[in-house]
Amino acid sequence: MSSKVDKWIRPEVRALRAYQVPDAKGLIKLDAMENPYSWPPELVEAWLTRLRGVTLNRYPDPRARELAIRLTDYLGLAPDQGLILGNGSDELIQLVILALAAPGRVVMAPEPTFVMYRMIAGFAGMDYYPVALRSDFALDLPAVKAAMERLQPAVVFLAYPNNPTGNLWDELDLTEVLRAAPGLVVIDEAYYPFAGRSWISELGSYDNLLVMRTVSKLGLAGLRLGMLAGPPAWIEQIDKLRLPYNINVLTQVTAAFALEHGSVLDEQAAAICAERDRLGRTLMALPGLEVFPSQANFLLLRTAPGRAGEIFEGLLHRGVLIKNLDGSAPALADCLRVTVGRPEENEAFLNALREIL
Ligand SMILES: *Cc1c(COP(=O)(O)O)cnc(C)c1O
Repeated sequence: MSSKVDKWIRPEVRALRAYQVPDAKGLIKLDAMENPYSWPPELVEAWLTRLRGVTLNRYPDPRARELAIRLTDYLGLAPDQGLILGNGSDELIQLVILALAAPGRVVMAPEPTFVMYRMIAGFAGMDYYPVALRSDFALDLPAVKAAMERLQPAVVFLAYPNNPTGNLWDELDLTEVLRAAPGLVVIDEAYYPFAGRSWISELGSYDNLLVMRTVSKLGLAGLRLGMLAGPPAWIEQIDKLRLPYNINVLTQVTAAFALEHGSVLDEQAAAICAERDRLGRTLMALPGLEVFPSQANFLLLRTAPGRAGEIFEGLLHRGVLIKNLDGSAPALADCLRVTVGRPEENEAFLNALREIL
């Protein structure tokens, strides 16, 4: 059997390591940038009432039109811009790459960054070219421009703020990337709820800019809903690759409902930002930890040399799951990433960490 697998499964697929999601059962889960808050009971009741009206025996609206109208408003999208919805922004990254994929074509991104750009480029048979960030995780603009000039990437992905570093890049640098890029530039604003900075208003100004958003980090990670906005000429082409009913009916109804009650999610995001700043200050006062500035709902930490693994395991042993980034990229040596949780979760994390340090 394995010889047939080896013969027929494409080498680039066999070479991939499946995306690992650790089991978090019984643990304080501070590893995946989820919003730690649930909804107030009366909102849950109103949502369940709304779900009663859903017709599960029928296919969903193939274009999710009602939801798309609501999202256009939520995004502040100009009427002359296009919008496509995805089963999470992960699916949208895949659609963009599938629309561009051909042997020898290049996907580029600064690194370290979100791993899905590399993974999807790999399984779509495109070449992935990372450009190293500076040691403070700023964009290395001359290096990016030189690499674009040399390799003519079909698309450059820019996570803004970046994951796992948490920072926003300089706006003028991004403007220069947009001007110099030979192909598409996708600005991935997954952490917009915590950064408040967006390129949506620039969508008319460049012929190669697409902006991506998701409701995942805002507090609806279970729904799987991403948005890709930009010039209709691009969006119409990418939309051809979308499977007809990619946004299921429960997601369509629930996301529309959640946006009607958007202030609940906005207040949660504000609480997370306040908690992020408090957690950051507390961590900075601990010995032997470097805390990087963050505009997202997580913090990147650097431990004393060689201690990241031991600290990660120590936290796990005390019931707290974070993310160990040590070994995932040279720039992330000794690095850990912690998602901002509820105050009592952050306190449990801090207490465990104090014990270990
Ligand atoms: C988490 C994350 C995503 C994934 O979003 P989904 O909508 O849940 O697929 C996309 N981009 C970045 C940079 C992320 O960190």
